[in-house]
Formats: sequence, structure tokens, C-alpha cells
Amino acid sequence: MGEKRHYLPLLLCLSGLVHSSAAILFWSAVVETDYVKNNNETVNKLCECGVFGRNSPVLRASGIVTLPKGDPKGCGPDDVYNRNFSFPPWIALVKRGNCTFSDKINAAKRQGAAGVVVYNVDGSGNSTTHMAHSDANGIVAIMIGNFQGMEIFRLVKNGTEVKMVVDVGSPHGDYMDTYWLYILSIAFFIVTAAAIAYFGFISANRLYRMNRERRQEKRLKSEAKKAIGRLPLRTLKRSDEETTSDTDMCAVCIESYKAGDVVTVLTCNHIFHKDCIEPWLLDKRTCPMCKCDIMKALGFEEETKESMPTESPQEVTVVTVTGGDAVYEVPLTDPASLNAESQQHYYDNTVFQGDSEAARG
Ligand SMILES: [Zn+2]
Ligand SMILES: [Zn+2]
Repeated sequence: MGEKRHYLPLLLCLSGLVHSSAAILFWSAVVETDYVKNNNETVNKLCECGVFGRNSPVLRASGIVTLPKGDPKGCGPDDVYNRNFSFPPWIALVKRGNCTFSDKINAAKRQGAAGVVVYNVDGSGNSTTHMAHSDANGIVAIMIGNFQGMEIFRLVKNGTEVKMVVDVGSPHGDYMDTYWLYILSIAFFIVTAAAIAYFGFISANRLYRMNRERRQEKRLKSEAKKAIGRLPLRTLKRSDEETTSDTDMCAVCIESYKAGDVVTVLTCNHIFHKDCIEPWLLDKRTCPMCKCDIMKALGFEEETKESMPTESPQEVTVVTVTGGDAVYEVPLTDPASLNAESQQHYYDNTVFQGDSEAARG
């Protein structure tokens, strides 16, 4: 099917995209913190809960956690830390926001930090993002969740010395991109399949209908042929009434009958030239004069009834009958009912009804 061929390259492209994006990795970071509580108890915490920034070297870094002296978001351009040397090694802990990741990272780098840990904004729980900081290279930069960042922030703020080690965790696929592309390609696949199925169904249906109509038409034609074969023929003679009358003529070709003409006599007793009426009956199956159904009259009706296509309703002939003061409009739906005996007119006329009631009373 044509549609299938169009979609195939698109599908290939999409799967290519999925594969290339699956190759994009981020590295998780292992964050280890050490500090001594007031009661001399040493606390050591370790989790693989950080994410290395896109432009960060994937390396180990360690030092004493240092906060910006003013705003915890640690944006420049002035010095933001009370440190100006890289020894003893220190790690900057800054909050996300106010300026770019590059700004924060560069501010710490300028003052000799061994690494930068950015923690997420309030209300983001422990979620992290894959930071992009293309203007700040050559320094380890990771992101951690808000809860974890705030916990360390509070300890340091209260004067606790917290030692931190940032270590390389494990590589990961870029879940979001891959996830969405997979979802998209699945959706695309479903839509494509549905479209193909729909077109297939429509075509099959049309083919089936056409076949059925063709078969039906064939059968109707052959039945009409059979019916025509049963109609009596007459060869008109010079003495026949039809050849002498001026008013008698074939209603199909509108020509008068001549002696020697071969005519077909229909079940309604109307006659027509054999050569004129046969093609007409094959097509219309009724008398051109009185609309009498020759198939019905010859007993073909029962077999064909169910397969006959419903034709447009017959025209309603209205005969106006004038008698006295009353004017009656008589609908003649069935031309066969022209015979006065079988005719059952419905007179929708109150004057008439009144008269007949008066006559009865
Ligand atoms: Zn004719
Ligand atoms: Zn007729």
C-alpha cells in the first residue's frame, strides 16, 4: 500500500533519533559528607544523589563546604566567598536561581574552589536537572536536590565544618529525551497503523460494494432477458387496427405502426416495436406507457425484491375532477388503479363529507 511506503523512511528517521538520543548520557555523582556533631558524634552520609553538569569534568573533588557570604545563590560579579585560596580545598555550596549556572560556577572558580555544588530551588524536593553551563568549564560542578542542599546549608550556617567528597557515580541515558521520543514514535506508529487499517477497510468495502453491485446488475439483466423472452410477439398485418389508426404509435420511437412491423405485447397489453422495447425493458423493466412492472407481472418479483435497489418514489399524478361547486384533487399514486372499479379515492373535502352525511341522515 502507498501509505506504508511513505511512512517507512519517517519511521527509520525516528528510530535513528531515538538511538542517537539514547547515546546522550549524564553522570550521576556520589556525594559523601562528614561532620562532627556537638556531642562529638561523627556523622557520615553517602548517596548517589548528584548529577554532573553537562560541561563539568567527570572527576572526583573534595573539600570543606563553604557558603557564599551573603546571598546563598552566590552570583557575582563581586567576591561571594570569604576564601581566596585553593588550599585548604573547599567546595562551594550555592542555591539555584538569580543568575546562570555559569555565573555561579565561575564566581567560585575565580576564588579557588575545588568544586561547585548547586542545590535546587525550594519546593523541588530532591529532584535535580542536568545543568548546562557552557561558559564555565574546567571545574567539577554537580547539582543536588533541595532537601539535601538545605540540610548541609543549615549545618554550615550553624558553624559545623562539613567535609564533602564528590565522586563519579554511573552513566545514565538521558531519560526525558529518550522517553518522549519513544512515546512519540509509539504514538506515530499507532496513528500510522490506524490510518493504514482505515484505508484498507475503506478500499475493501468499496471493492466489495462494487462487486456486489456488478453481480446484482448482471443478475437483473439476465432476469429481464428471460422475462422478455416470455413476452408474446406479433407481426402486424395491413388489416390490423394498429396499422390503420393515426393515434396508435410506438411510445418509444414515436412512430406509427406499419404492416410487417414486429411488435412485443407487454403484460399490460400495450404494444411496442420489438427492437424499441427490448433495450428499454432491460434497463427499466416497466411499460413506458403505464409503468406496469413486467417482472412483477411475470412472477420474477419475489426473487429480485431483496436485491432490487430502491428507486426514487413514483411521481404522483394529480387529476382534478370538477363536479358542481366542489373541486376534488385525486392523487393517482398507482397507475394500475386507473380502472374505475379498483380505484379507491380519498376525498379530502369537508363539503363532500358533509353532503354524504346529510344524505345518510
Ligand atoms: Zn418503436
Ligand atoms: Zn403498459
